[in-house]
Amino acid sequence: MKKFGFIGLGIMGNAMALNLVKAGLDVTVWNRNSEKCSALVAQGAKQGNTPREVAEACDITFTIVSDPTAALAICEGPDGVVAGIGEGRSYIDMSTVDDATSQKISAAITEAGGRFLEAPVSGTKKPAEDGTLIILAAGDKSVYDDALPAFEIMGKMSPYLGEIGQGAKMKLVVNMIMGGMLSIFSEGVSLGLKADLDGEQLLEIIAAGAMANPMFAVKGPMLLAEQYDTSFPLKHMQKDMRLAVDLGDQLDLSLPTAATSNESFKQARKAGYADEDIAAIYKTVK
Ligand code: NAP
Repeated sequence: MKKFGFIGLGIMGNAMALNLVKAGLDVTVWNRNSEKCSALVAQGAKQGNTPREVAEACDITFTIVSDPTAALAICEGPDGVVAGIGEGRSYIDMSTVDDATSQKISAAITEAGGRFLEAPVSGTKKPAEDGTLIILAAGDKSVYDDALPAFEIMGKMSPYLGEIGQGAKMKLVVNMIMGGMLSIFSEGVSLGLKADLDGEQLLEIIAAGAMANPMFAVKGPMLLAEQYDTSFPLKHMQKDMRLAVDLGDQLDLSLPTAATSNESFKQARKAGYADEDIAAIYKTVK
C-alpha cells in the first residue's frame, strides 16, 4: 500500500488529511505546532517528527501551509522535505503561493531526485471537510496520475493545468476575483444599511438575480450578523491579492480594482482582523 505524508494541519490541512485517513489510507502527519497532530493520530494517522522524516517515509507527501515563506521553510534545512525526498518519492505542495516560489521548490525537489507537483486548492473549510475541493494541479504529470486517487478523496475536480506555475497562477486569478467581489459586496451591504435598506431584503434581491453566487449566499448572512468565524483567514486572502497584483506587475498589466481591494484587505489586517474570516473586511468598510 502506498504511504502518504501530510504536512500542515491548519484549517485546510486538518480537514484534507482527515479525509485521507478516513478513506483508509496510510497517512503520516507533521505540523509545526505538534498539538494539532493529536486529533489525526487519534483517527489512525502516524506522526513524523520533522518534514524530512515524513518525506523519507512516504511515497507521496502533501503540504498545505500559509504562504511562500512557510512553503519554503518546510522544504529547507537539515529537517526539511528536500533533505528527505530522495529518488522515487514525490512532493505535492497545495499551498497558495506565487509562480516563482513554486519554481524554486520544484527545482530543489527535482535536484534532490524527487518528483514535484503544485496543486493549490479552490474551496474553503467546508469543501475541505466535505472532500469537494477544486484541485489545481500542474507539474510532473506522472505525480498527478499517481496522486489522482487521493485527489479524488479530497476534491470534486482536479484539472491538470500543464507546466509548473500554471496551477499557482490559476489559483491567484480565481482568488483575485473572489477578493474583489467580497470587497465590493461589503461596500454594497454597508451602503444599503446606511441608506436604511433592509439587509435581508438586499441579500434576497441579490440572490434572485444574475449576481447570485455561493460566496455571497454564505458571507451575506455573516456580514448582517457581524459574525466572522474563520473559514478562510483574512491574512491569507490579502496575501493572495498581493501575489495577484505582483503577477500583474510582472506581466505589465494594470489591475486597478484588485490593487484597491488589496489595500482594503491590508487595512483590515492592520486593524487587527488578520485571523478572522475574510468577511471581516466588512468591519473596515461599514
Ligand atoms: P491556517 O489555518 O492559517 O494554517 C496555516 C498552516 O501553515 C498551519 O499548519 C501552520 O502551522 C503552517 N505554517 C505557517 N507558517 C509556517 C512555517 N514557517 N513553518 C511551518 N509551518 C508553518 O491556513 P489555512 O486556511 O489552512 O490555509 C493554508 C493554505 O491554503 C494557505 O496558502 C491559504 O491561502 C490556502 N487556502 C486556504 C483556504 C481557506 O479557505 N482556509 C482555501 C483555499 C486555499 P502552525 O499550526 O504551527 O501555525
